[in-house]
This record gives sequence, C-alpha cells and structure tokens, in this order.
Amino acid sequence: MPVEQTLSIIKPDATRRNLTGKINALFEDAGLKIVAQRRIRLTKEMAEKFYEVHAERSFFDDLCNFMISGPVVVQVLEGENAVAQNRQIMGATNPANADAGTVRKLFGESIECNSVHGSDSLENAKTEIEFFFAKMDIVG
Ligand code: ADP
Ligand code: MG
Repeated sequence: MPVEQTLSIIKPDATRRNLTGKINALFEDAGLKIVAQRRIRLTKEMAEKFYEVHAERSFFDDLCNFMISGPVVVQVLEGENAVAQNRQIMGATNPANADAGTVRKLFGESIECNSVHGSDSLENAKTEIEFFFAKMDIVG
C-alpha cells in the first residue's frame, strides 16, 4: 500500500479536555506517524476558508464558531493508506454512529464537537496540509 500523508486536526472540544496525548496515542498505536504538529488558535477567516466547501450548509456558522472557541492541534499523519486509515481511526462524523474504539466514539461529544478532523481524499489532504504547513515543517 502507498505511503500517504493526511491532515488531522484535534478540535477545541478535545484540547479543552486535555485529550491531545490520548488521541495521538490512538494514531501511533495504529501505525500512523505524526510528522508535523502545531497547536494554534484559528481565526474566523481561517476557519471559514478551511471549511469553505460547507459554506452553504446550515451548520457552517456554528462549525466555524466552534473551531475558534479554543486551541486546535493541526498535524500531518503519515503511513500506509494514511487518508483512509485515519478516517477509520476517527470513526463516523456523528459519535453516536461511530464504531467502538474510534476517536469519535471514545471522545466525541456531539455531531459538531466530534474531537477530530481528517482529510477525506488524497487530493484534499494535499490542499489541507499546504493550508497549515510548509514543506520544511514536515519531517518524516
Ligand atoms: P467529517 O468531519 O466526518 O468529514 P463533514 O465533512 O461532513 O464530516 O463535516 C465537517 C464537520 O462539520 C464535522 O466534523 C462536524 O464537526 C460538523 N458537522 C457535520 N455535520 C453536522 C451537523 N449535521 N450538525 C452540526 N455540525 C456538523
Ligand atoms: Mg469532511
């Protein structure tokens, strides 16, 4: 399987509960390597740009306000099939529907406050990684 990189974000509901290490352990235990990581506060403009594909959705404003409500940890995960593998580790968008042992089942509070973001395709992963990281920030 090809080695890929994907963009992950540990969301404000999780940083607020000091869960960064527990979530990172799930990535690492599954074989994904954290090859870049930074704790930041998104601005409203950044959140709106990052989630612009959802601009027409009813939850867009709430989502952007949630994403700026506290620090986030942006990170690049690397490994075989990393995009799809990370989506599996994350679990379904709604924690109520997520499989046992996934990040969202273990830690998600609601369909909005679901602890993590993960790129949904290799193409989007490239765009999302470039949104936050320069090449020299990523050390494999
Ligand atoms: P995913 O993060 O699983 O790829 P989406 O891309 O569909 O899910 O949605 C982006 C984010 O928007 C979700 O992770 C969640 O935080 C929020 N969201 C999605 N659907 C809803 C909803 N129906 N109500 C509130 N927030 C939502
Ligand atoms: Mg998505």
